[in-house]
Amino acid sequence: MLDTLGRPMRDLRISVTDRCNMRCRYCMPREVFGAGHRFLPRDELLSFEEIARVAAVLAGHGVRKIRLTGGEPLLRRGLENLVAMLASIDGIEDLSLTTNGLLLARRAQALADAGLNRVTVSLDALDPATLHRIADAPVAPERILDGIEAATDAGLGPVKVNMVVRRGVNDGELIVMANRFRHSPQVLRFIEYMDVGSTNGWRREHVVPAAEILARISARWPLEALPPTTPGEVATRYRYADGAGEIGVIHAVTAPFCHGCTRARLSADGRLYTCLFATDGHDLRELLRAGAEDPEIAAALAGVWAGRSDRYSAERSAARPAASPRNARRADPPARPRVEMSYIGG
Ligand code: SAM
Ligand code: SF4
Ligand code: SF4
Repeated sequence: MLDTLGRPMRDLRISVTDRCNMRCRYCMPREVFGAGHRFLPRDELLSFEEIARVAAVLAGHGVRKIRLTGGEPLLRRGLENLVAMLASIDGIEDLSLTTNGLLLARRAQALADAGLNRVTVSLDALDPATLHRIADAPVAPERILDGIEAATDAGLGPVKVNMVVRRGVNDGELIVMANRFRHSPQVLRFIEYMDVGSTNGWRREHVVPAAEILARISARWPLEALPPTTPGEVATRYRYADGAGEIGVIHAVTAPFCHGCTRARLSADGRLYTCLFATDGHDLRELLRAGAEDPEIAAALAGVWAGRSDRYSAERSAARPAASPRNARRADPPARPRVEMSYIGG
């Protein structure tokens, strides 16, 4: 099954909830996601059975990797049961989870036992005050580090640690973070801050380009490029020349990877999106709840993918080349309405 640009569907990201126990300013700013925000009511969420059914149909269409995300996926009660259901689907070779790590320490073993293969943990800073400012909540970095340790001990590694780098916010922690994960079994990945959604007030000057991140780290510890492990891998890999391990950079803004994008996203309320920057998704819940049989669902999904032409990041880059000090202050054009990352699944 190929889209209009010849890309197969290989990966599925499933958002299991739009709720979160943090309010990261770049993802769910409190002004928007505060007391007045209407989160999805329970009956609008796909049930685990419904999620597993969509996943099984998509596995039949070529999906091999599934990632559970949100919102904060560990807030969804009984997530281990969904993990077990997904792990038993024929064709699924890799089942992973992205989490902020707050609830991970006491859940890691049960998730591994249920069949989860890997975990990615988001951690943007080690300094408590900086992390508090970013998460807009009094989050103790130790609690997240405990989650990372527990996941490593449970065999959910190598645990990837995601750091979204923003200029003037946490780029002062690049070296501290690198140092913390050197000589560890974890792989730290630096992510360029993306213009996802429309509530975070993204500006290009807040992005620290991957090239600059690499230059700053390699000035301290020289780096050597590594080949990709899998086709379509979004992170570019490097290793420390002194043998202290590996890092990754995800340059979604300065060097987009749309040409190899094989990813579909299922929102918590059952809409299928074919791009992180999509305006709208295809309602599968209605189909599921109207009693559609698997072949009908499979045909609908195939139709959506066959019509896919998304290449938002590549178009953004073509419209304006990578940031430079000269053009950094020019405002980017206002984007069309876009779904929020916490809803569509990061
Ligand atoms: N709550 C979980 C977490 O934080 O890991 C899972 C969902 S979160 C939306 C998934 C990932 O998206 C996190 O690593 C987060 O840092 C990243 N993210 C959110 N907004 C982003 C943005 N504007 N640019 C780059 N990454 C972003
Ligand atoms: Fe929550 Fe993750 Fe978004 Fe932070 S990045 S607000 S932890 S969903
Ligand atoms: Fe894929 Fe859309 Fe991101 Fe391009 S912008 S890599 S098509 S999700």
